[in-house]
Amino acid sequence: MTASEIRELDPQTVERIAAGEVVERPASAVKELIENSIDADASRVTVAVENGGIDGIRVRDDGVGMARGELERAVDEHTTSKIADIDDLESGVATLGFRGEALHAIGAVSRLTITTRPRAGGEATELTVAGGNVTDVRPAGHPSGTTVEVDDLFYNVPARQKYLKQPSTEFDHVNTVTTSYALANPDVAVTLEHDDRETFATTGSGDLQETVMAVYGREVAQAMRTVSGEDIPDGPLDSVRGLVSHPETNRASREYLSTFVNGRYVTASVAREAVVDAYDTQLAPDRYPFAVLFLEVDPATVDVNVHPRKMEVRFADEAAVKKQVEHAVEQALLEEGLVRTSAPRG
Ligand code: ADP
Ligand code: MG
Repeated sequence: MTASEIRELDPQTVERIAAGEVVERPASAVKELIENSIDADASRVTVAVENGGIDGIRVRDDGVGMARGELERAVDEHTTSKIADIDDLESGVATLGFRGEALHAIGAVSRLTITTRPRAGGEATELTVAGGNVTDVRPAGHPSGTTVEVDDLFYNVPARQKYLKQPSTEFDHVNTVTTSYALANPDVAVTLEHDDRETFATTGSGDLQETVMAVYGREVAQAMRTVSGEDIPDGPLDSVRGLVSHPETNRASREYLSTFVNGRYVTASVAREAVVDAYDTQLAPDRYPFAVLFLEVDPATVDVNVHPRKMEVRFADEAAVKKQVEHAVEQALLEEGLVRTSAPRG
């Protein structure tokens, strides 16, 4: 390349580059859509994907839905009903979304159809977007709630399409994301379907053990022990609770160590480390237990305003968090006589 002239990119190119930051692959679209459904107070969320999500993604919920005007605004850039200004962000966001960019970004790189009817009453509306342009808005039939369909992801971004993996690999990512939200929200009935076959369905009963059974099967569910997090040392975490598996039920991957911070699906590496350390010599090297752990902290002390795809969270005092989680898990294993008491902890 010889030209060194600095040009301004055309708006369409800018938009597609920006969209790529939010939507990297089918699983990232699924993540955004499930978050929207949960933020919309859904009690039932059904995720159905075709060909690993490459050909189609459909997320249907029974949440609050949208009126026609709201729907038209929802697909605009930086439009959200969730925060008003930077102060809301500083004081801690209760919803999963707040950037107001997901629907717009997905619409820029796919054929997007949203059909929705407000729970509060009123008509259903269907809106279609293709490659960033609203192509149609019209009355439709839909029960209260919302269905979002994403077809032909990246059809207009060939470079991105090339980087998609085999459908089975893309589906693995979709499955991991959907499983994580199902575990984080036992009171929401989450169903996942791939090419018209059901992968799992949780009942939404609110029972964590039952949710684990639905996603990981009976054997794993029966191996789970309760982490109650009573008398954890003082530290940044207000509480640590959830389930961890008997050491004999383990896998060769960290993938089944799920950690949630204030209900958010995140990777808290320090918490994963703490879980593994709590098992001490009970686990062979490179073997990892199942864990579903909910960490609660003062929302003002965690920064959620990181990149939409950066799942890693950091705490101001990582060492103290580690101590608290390790203690909580150790306690759960001790009660079952599964680990020996180590030397008194300082
Ligand atoms: P954000 O979630 O950050 O607000 P999105 O682009 O994901 O941004 O969504 C924009 C807006 O559209 C949301 O703030 C919400 O008002 C509305 N919305 C999106 N999905 C749904 C849904 N499933 N049910 C009801 N409203 C929705
Ligand atoms: Mg959102």
